[in-house]
Amino acid sequence: MKKITSTLLSLFFLVSAFAQPGKSENIVVVTMDGLRWQEIFGGADSVLTYDTTAKYSIKYVQKHFWATDATARRKKLMPFFWSEIASKGILLGNRNYSNYFNNANPYWFSYPGYNEIFTGYPDTAVNSNDKIPNKNENVFEYLNKLPEFKGKTAVFGSWDVFASIFNEGRSGLLVNDGFRDLKGNLTEKQKLFNRLQHEMPDLFHGGERLDAATFNIAFEYMKEHKPKLIFFGLGDTDEFAHAGQYDYYLDAAQKSDTWIRQIWDYIQSTPGYKDKTTLIITTDHGRGLAEGSNWRHHGNKIGEASEMWMAAIGPSVKPTGESKEKAQAYQGQIAATIAAMLGKEFKPAHPVLPALTLNSK
Ligand SMILES: [Zn+2]
Repeated sequence: MKKITSTLLSLFFLVSAFAQPGKSENIVVVTMDGLRWQEIFGGADSVLTYDTTAKYSIKYVQKHFWATDATARRKKLMPFFWSEIASKGILLGNRNYSNYFNNANPYWFSYPGYNEIFTGYPDTAVNSNDKIPNKNENVFEYLNKLPEFKGKTAVFGSWDVFASIFNEGRSGLLVNDGFRDLKGNLTEKQKLFNRLQHEMPDLFHGGERLDAATFNIAFEYMKEHKPKLIFFGLGDTDEFAHAGQYDYYLDAAQKSDTWIRQIWDYIQSTPGYKDKTTLIITTDHGRGLAEGSNWRHHGNKIGEASEMWMAAIGPSVKPTGESKEKAQAYQGQIAATIAAMLGKEFKPAHPVLPALTLNSK
């Protein structure tokens, strides 16, 4: 009897060690284009906050984002990240703890970055931001071929190159990017958001609408159609950084944090999403250091521009908070991770980096 009990007991431990970790039924991905890890983990940069030669308003930055302590500063900038995600999710990429998260592709700009995130393949042939239909298969496209995800997948972005990155023509995914109107049977609210995007300032001259338009069009679609896979591609952070507007850059990051909170609150209060949805947040590349105005730029001539971060919260993520262990991960691991969280394996025709394990340790 004693022997049987101990056998049963060891069997129990074996089973629990290999038990299926919290499986997700839905995945939401949000990206903030070129938002630096330095701001995510340290809040407003002290050099840029007190740069008296700056063309942007350092008064505004000091008033809204400054605190002497970096922990207080990051909380001020990204309150949802440092309350909800830090306590119930995971944050990777704080290089102060040698926790590294990088581009695996050698280019460190947008199209190669988004290609790497969603196809899992840091393909060196993907080397421009031109509107070339992506030959690599993305994980949304792959999953959308399965009956449970068919027609329940949507891609929204501020930048009009997402249709090419996700190869809209081949993938058949719903893609709404740039200044395109959402089509179909629309609610009054959706018609209003379609119109508003054209009434807002064309601040970035052509191919990119403001994130306020993208977020609202996408969020309303999410509420109306309850997709199982949805992407919000936000871009204001990158545009304002290139323009040298550190005040607007921080403002855009903070607004994005508020939108992410709204998405999470909606998920956790909606049957079908609640406790079944993992939210992944990341960026497509990093930027340079504050000194020498390199923070405005990225690409592989800027030494630090492959340094990035990622965060996640949901049933497939162990609540380990800010990761402080020495580690190296890549954005190209996200595609396989998305599939694994759904209990699937991502097996396209091209190579794929291995999934991250966010539900152990
Ligand atoms: Zn970018």
